Amino acid sequence: MNNVLSTPIVYLKGVGPKRGEILQKEANIHTYYDLLHYYPFRYIDKSAYNNISEIPQLTTPVQLKGQIISYKQVKSGRAKRLEVKFEDATGRVDLIWFKGGKWIVPKLKKGGWAKVYGRPKRYGSLYSIAHPEIEFLENENEDSLGLQAVYHSGEKLENLGFHSKGIERIIAQLLPQIKGQIDDILPDWIKSDLNLISREDALINIHAPSSFEMVRRAQLRLKFEELFILQLELLLRKEITKKKIKGLKLEKVGDIFNEFYSQHLPFELTNAQKRVIKEIRADIGSGIHMNRLLQGDVGSGKTLVALMVMLIAIDNGYQACMMAPTEILANQHYNTLQDFLKKMDIRVELLTGSTKKSERKKLHEDLRSGAIHILVGTHALLEDVVQYKDLGIAIIDEQHRFGVAQRSRLWKKNTLPPHILVMTATPIPRTLALTFYGDLDISVIDELPPGRKDVQTTHRFESARLNVFQFIENEIAKGRQVYIVYPLIQESEKLDYENLLDGYESITRRFPLPKFKVSIVHGQMKAEAKDYEMAQFAAGKTDIMVATTVIEVGVNVPNASVMVIESAQKFGLSQLHQLRGRVGRGADQSYCILMTNHKISEDAKKRIATMVETNDGFKISEVDLKLRGPGDIMGTQQSGILNLKLADLSRDAQIVKMARLKAEELMQKDPTFSEKDHQALAKRLKKVLQSRPNWSRIS
Ligand code: ADP
Ligand code: MG
Repeated sequence: MNNVLSTPIVYLKGVGPKRGEILQKEANIHTYYDLLHYYPFRYIDKSAYNNISEIPQLTTPVQLKGQIISYKQVKSGRAKRLEVKFEDATGRVDLIWFKGGKWIVPKLKKGGWAKVYGRPKRYGSLYSIAHPEIEFLENENEDSLGLQAVYHSGEKLENLGFHSKGIERIIAQLLPQIKGQIDDILPDWIKSDLNLISREDALINIHAPSSFEMVRRAQLRLKFEELFILQLELLLRKEITKKKIKGLKLEKVGDIFNEFYSQHLPFELTNAQKRVIKEIRADIGSGIHMNRLLQGDVGSGKTLVALMVMLIAIDNGYQACMMAPTEILANQHYNTLQDFLKKMDIRVELLTGSTKKSERKKLHEDLRSGAIHILVGTHALLEDVVQYKDLGIAIIDEQHRFGVAQRSRLWKKNTLPPHILVMTATPIPRTLALTFYGDLDISVIDELPPGRKDVQTTHRFESARLNVFQFIENEIAKGRQVYIVYPLIQESEKLDYENLLDGYESITRRFPLPKFKVSIVHGQMKAEAKDYEMAQFAAGKTDIMVATTVIEVGVNVPNASVMVIESAQKFGLSQLHQLRGRVGRGADQSYCILMTNHKISEDAKKRIATMVETNDGFKISEVDLKLRGPGDIMGTQQSGILNLKLADLSRDAQIVKMARLKAEELMQKDPTFSEKDHQALAKRLKKVLQSRPNWSRIS
């Protein structure tokens, strides 16, 4: 950092010790550098005002210029509410502060001019704006034309004069001092390729832009820089780890794989499956450690890919394990693998929390002796007592439920690390995948096995329930089976349970014995009872499965053709998509019916509309990302680490791509960063690499 920029903030004219302390505490601004990177979150076009008389026609926030007519503070409970009557030439509106209006009171003057920005709300025939942004003017003409930056503030900051305008003032003090002091870390060739402005110009224009075009260019430059550094970091980590970590060389494709492929494979592999197996084969045979993410939509056939890769490990004299997030899923994998391998001399075993102690001991022994080829299980696989003779590859299903720390437990069990294949059915948008897994290799199964028909999805309101029941009856008459799923929200487990039982009761009334048979499965049942009910349904002995989301990753029942999701508004998009993936597994047309009442939130409407519109898991996850933000999808801990100030992974997909391309280009051109033009970048990267933990690598 340059000298000027590292100056403590208290030395800036207009700050001083007391106000400096509040900037440090409340806004994390310690130095000139920090202040310079305290970016505005929006800009006001000073020349564009709304008339108060227009308010009834507008649904957007408004910007007004007018005068204060009167004001009063009204006691409401312990707090004081501030009410200001405000008018322009066309009408009148109330401005209201329920709290935090303290700094405003001393500035209020009858007849005084002010500029106001906020979202009006209607109360009876009157409009008011709660907590507007307000700026007081000396006179009607004080505001000049141009753009004004608006900064986040807070009550404590405001009390010391650091409302948005106050922050703008100290930044105006600072900007002249930074001229010629800002190092540009982007090399010239990238700036000229992409027509990016200099770092100094960007920083000046992000705070004091001359036009919206300059705001755009400043933002583009700064966002690009953030994402470019991130991508470089990911590429470098990949280089470092690739170089360091030698891997088991599983190069032989032998009898076991070949026998399975030519004699026991019940269907033709899809092209996507073939491609992915090839990618993985090349990787594990290269002598470099594999750390790969396998993405594929529900039903795309990941399990089979995993199996075939495990067979290669066995061909090379190693063992394999497969870890699932739930007992039900572990069971299912175990059964699937057993079934595929029943004609072969491969020993597959299952280890979960409910494996009996006596069996467990034997399992451990046989694992150590190498008698077990494939071990399937849950977290139980991570216990220290679980020791392999020679683990060649670990398959991890549904990675987002396993933390990195947990994965590394698997790792330590061996002297040479096993190859890692992480499978996820939640398709991660490309931008997000590149960013979060930039240092993992990614394989994608982007094709479903042939003969699958898209599930037809509809949204139905409570009022259409009788029709829905009739539809279910018709499907059952055709010999099909039906899922009816209720939401499960941990916080109100009891209530969920009651909902489920109520639903179950009304369903059994509508679909009575002996003509219809209804199963029920929920989280409060014992594992054996659950398994029994699941097995009954899977065997076609019951027609309807009433369940909570325990079936999300549950049994594979190709004959089931209807998925009814109750209170669908309560489910997240990826969950809805997973649930829908339970049907459409046979050759018949399948249906998904999303039930809600009429009053649901805008986000819920969007989620449901998306489900109705598309079956494409990637599209669905793009929408999910937009609705929830990357933090929620990937876990906040990881998104915090990214530390992006301006860039937004969902909105700036284009810039992410650009940054990725340029980062790759740079690494090709000058992998050691030895050119003069790349020195500043090298310095910055060194810092970044030291400051952030390596979070996606298993080490
Ligand atoms: P995923 O785990 O990706 O959701 P699965 O591995 O459970 O999907 O596969 C879904 C279903 O498709 C299984 O019944 C599986 O046997 C079947 N399947 C897998 N690959 C193929 C293929 N190439 N052709 C036909 N069916 C397949
Ligand atoms: Mg699966």
